[in-house]
Amino acid sequence: MSWSNRHVRGIVLTLVFSTMAVMQYAHSQRVRLGDTTRLLVVPVGDVDRRLVVAVAQEVARAYGMLPQIATTSTALPPGGLHPVRGQYLASTLRACLRPDDRSSEVIVLGITEADIYAPGLNFVFGEADLPGNTAVLSLAHLRPTTPGGHISYSHLAERAAKVAVHEVGHLLGLEHCRDERCVMQFANSASALDATSCELCPACQRELR
Ligand SMILES: [Zn+2]
Ligand SMILES: [Zn+2]
Repeated sequence: MSWSNRHVRGIVLTLVFSTMAVMQYAHSQRVRLGDTTRLLVVPVGDVDRRLVVAVAQEVARAYGMLPQIATTSTALPPGGLHPVRGQYLASTLRACLRPDDRSSEVIVLGITEADIYAPGLNFVFGEADLPGNTAVLSLAHLRPTTPGGHISYSHLAERAAKVAVHEVGHLLGLEHCRDERCVMQFANSASALDATSCELCPACQRELR
């Protein structure tokens, strides 16, 4: 999912280093998944609380993490709004998510209704930091973009959970996967997202260990 400029960085790195060097870099910088790894989910701007809880539960289930939800929303960063595009630069939202607890065992996931983008891309569903422990997902393009389009709550929650599990997977060192049902498969449209599951394939699960 090119919801992440991490993919672009990966391509650039590949031009400079060998594939092996890139893989070692990714694994050495990832957050380590352990029994005490915590997930903090933070609404950025006004977000349906029920949806935030549903996403937190799915990510926690996928990785066996302890979920926690921020009691208050974080404000959208005024400086992150592009005056012409009307979108927020995704990295500026992630910058708002730095936890007080800098422990490497904390993953912070922001959820926003704002439309977000990364340099060179029209929009992103989400973005993960590398190296780092923050990721963000946007609901803006998970909803139908055609006038009068409708999506059920459960369908929207399912799409949001897939993006969240995917981005947190990147934080944990997972790369894009070729298994068509794996949540780590690259998807750049809502329909492609619908074709995947919310689950990690066996190979990606082994990567986490
Ligand atoms: Zn991705
Ligand atoms: Zn996989």
